[in-house]
Amino acid sequence: MRILGIVLLLGALISGSALVVLLESEPESAPARPQPSPTPPSASPAEPTPTVAVPRLRERRRYVFPVRGGASYGAAHHDYPAADMFADCGTPVVTPASGVVLQVTRRDSWDWGDDAPALRGGLSWSVGGDDGVRYYGSHLRAISDGVRRGEWIPAGTRIGTVGQTGNAAGTGCHLHFGISPLCERPDGWWVRRGIIPPYAFLRAWESGRDRSPANAIRRWQRTHRCPPGP
Ligand SMILES: [Zn+2]
Repeated sequence: MRILGIVLLLGALISGSALVVLLESEPESAPARPQPSPTPPSASPAEPTPTVAVPRLRERRRYVFPVRGGASYGAAHHDYPAADMFADCGTPVVTPASGVVLQVTRRDSWDWGDDAPALRGGLSWSVGGDDGVRYYGSHLRAISDGVRRGEWIPAGTRIGTVGQTGNAAGTGCHLHFGISPLCERPDGWWVRRGIIPPYAFLRAWESGRDRSPANAIRRWQRTHRCPPGP
């Protein structure tokens, strides 16, 4: 290849200088094909460069709205702070924050006659967030197979779908969503169901802002600790 190049170069010196320029501009490893008018990449018309910045920023977000595609919800909830987020049955439910799956209930054991408070949620889940906050969702129609107790999942991981299991039967499909402290001992439904109003946080996450409930939960726990009962 090198000998051939020298021969060609000598030939070029005799016949003219145009071929010399051509040979010099070829990278060593590339096949020696003629490029009559090599144009630098910057000579092409300026088009908007496709950017991956937006998806990357989304991936880095700490908090994600827990109902994919949106839901209808208000600031008020009966009896205690929580949010009932109404959406079409089967709408995906995702974890709002990264963390460890603390509890998954795949069977609806609630019975109208007993009305056991611990079973009112029907198909439900809890995630112990990396931010030190517990997130709870209930009344799901289905829980995804991959969601397992003890596993860490990133924010936005699909947990299941919106339904009306437990004591939500007949009330319309919605996700009951609760924010509560992570107590050290296995604590009960009276904490898990919701301690601080999630509304302001849901509004923030819905509009793409990372607002953490961690400080509000810490403040609450300094006063209340882990209540031993309802
Ligand atoms: Zn509710």
